[in-house]
Amino acid sequence: MTVGILALQGAFAEHGAMLDRLGAEHFEIRQRKDLDHPFDALILPGGESTVMAKLLHESGMFEIIREKIRSGMPVYGTCAGLILLAKEVEDNPACLGTMDIRVKRNAYGRQLGSFYTEQEFKGIGTIPMSFIRAPYIEKIYENTEILAQADGKIVAARQENQLVTAFHPEVNDDTRVHQYFLNMIR
Ligand code: GLN
Repeated sequence: MTVGILALQGAFAEHGAMLDRLGAEHFEIRQRKDLDHPFDALILPGGESTVMAKLLHESGMFEIIREKIRSGMPVYGTCAGLILLAKEVEDNPACLGTMDIRVKRNAYGRQLGSFYTEQEFKGIGTIPMSFIRAPYIEKIYENTEILAQADGKIVAARQENQLVTAFHPEVNDDTRVHQYFLNMIR
C-alpha cells in the first residue's frame, strides 16, 4: 500500500514522518508526472488552500486528482486540505469540491487562530488537536459523518472515502488519526 502526499506547499513532510512511524509506504507528489507513480491513497496537507488550489490548476493535476477522489480513492485532508475538499467554501471557489461539507476558513479569528485542545474522536478516543489558523465545518450534508467536535464546532468528518480534520494530528505525537486513515485504505 502506497500513500501519495501532495507536496506543493505546506506541512507535507510531517505527514510522511507519521506514515514512517506506522510503516506505511509514501512518496511526495510535486508535479504532474508524479501521478504516474502507482498509489492507493492521497493526503492533502495543511498550508494555504488558495495557493495550493492555484498550484493544482497550474500544474495540470487538479482534474486528475479530482477524478481519483470521485472514483473512490481514499483521501485525507488536514486543515487547508479539508478546505480543498469542501464543496462549499465562502472565499475559495477554486477547490476540488468533492465532499459535501460547508467550510469556514480562518474561522476562529486572529487571536484564537491557533490553539491546542484534547477532544473525543469517534472510534479512537480522546486525542490531541492542534489548530493553526484553522477552518471549521459549518455544515455537513447527508452521507457525511461527524467524527469530532471542539467547542461546539465540527472539526473532523468522513464521507465514504474522504476523511478531513481541521486540526493537525501530524504535529503531535499521536499516530491514531493516521492509523484510522490507513484502516480506511485496507
Ligand atoms: N488558513 C489556511 C487556509 O485558509 C489553512 C491553515 C492551515 O492549513 N494550517 O488555507
